[in-house]
Amino acid sequence: MSRADALVAWYRAHRRDLPWRRDPRPWPVWVSEVMLQQTRVESVLPYFARFLERFPTPAALAAAPLDDVLAAWAGLGYYRRARHLHQAAQQVVERHGGEVPDDPEAFAALAGVGRYTCGAVQSIAFGRRLPVLDGNVERVLCRLYRVEDDPRGPAPRRRLWDAASALADHPHPGEVNQALMELGATVCTPRSPRCLLCPLQADCAARAAGVAEDLPRKAKRKARPTITVVAGLARDPDGAVWVARRPDDGLLAGLWELPGLEAPDADARHLAGVGLVGGGEATVVEHGFTHRVWAVHVYRARGTPTTAHHTAVRAVPEAELPTLALTGPALKALRACGVKLPHRRGAGRKRLS
Ligand code: SF4
Repeated sequence: MSRADALVAWYRAHRRDLPWRRDPRPWPVWVSEVMLQQTRVESVLPYFARFLERFPTPAALAAAPLDDVLAAWAGLGYYRRARHLHQAAQQVVERHGGEVPDDPEAFAALAGVGRYTCGAVQSIAFGRRLPVLDGNVERVLCRLYRVEDDPRGPAPRRRLWDAASALADHPHPGEVNQALMELGATVCTPRSPRCLLCPLQADCAARAAGVAEDLPRKAKRKARPTITVVAGLARDPDGAVWVARRPDDGLLAGLWELPGLEAPDADARHLAGVGLVGGGEATVVEHGFTHRVWAVHVYRARGTPTTAHHTAVRAVPEAELPTLALTGPALKALRACGVKLPHRRGAGRKRLS
């Protein structure tokens, strides 16, 4: 039995019952793959059902205003995924009559569709022999083939994509790919892989060498600079919280946050730049991005914020805050100030390019 056959047999016997697996039409599969990037399955489940009810087809999503789409995504985080999906749905309507294209080249030309998403959707929904490589698959393949170099380097990366391609060259490529993802999520886990339950155990080079748990080996990232941000927690006379919408381009584009700005130091007087008068410090939260870390100093504040650094400001009752597309730092800051908001993120599937 080939490795791919063993994976498919194992997957058929052990796969988790998930809604997008019950309904492997292209649109639900695509939505699920986008939602699952960087987000845990358990967090995605309620969003997936609601999103598809609201936007059952690409045309329905394409016709919706972006703000509605972001609001439906609110709580899932990584909003760029929602923007891209919205834009891609519009392209599907314009270019393909509203049907998700059964053509890898045409599909890969849509907004936000990288090699991972293309492979996942085209293999699962259309049976195309294309590979996937996300964080889970990377781990399985690094161990199976004992890849000792940092898998983010160009040569190991090519090797892993080639290995994934060889496995996906199978009559059931969608099941092979899902088996690899499922194996990484449930058996070949970062710590204490359960090799005795693994369909690849007899073939696994890392297991044979006793180094499974040491792989993949990743070099530490360079330290990121810390940027100081000063923000104000201000309320209108009814107690609603003032929030401000970020510019449509750049970091956290179009999302809502506490009125604030990057500043040379944590002095509350910088809040004058957004029209507020700062009082005592309420909290400090840190939020990491790929290339920088924000240290957000939140002050109790008075006044009505201006749009000097934002495209809009609104006073929103606390109960309505969860429906707003808030930035991650804003969510952390509001929670730290005692505002009840749902937790949303987890170390879910990581898309790799
Ligand atoms: S044998 Fe162990 S280390 Fe190797 S792929 Fe299976 S679970 Fe992972």
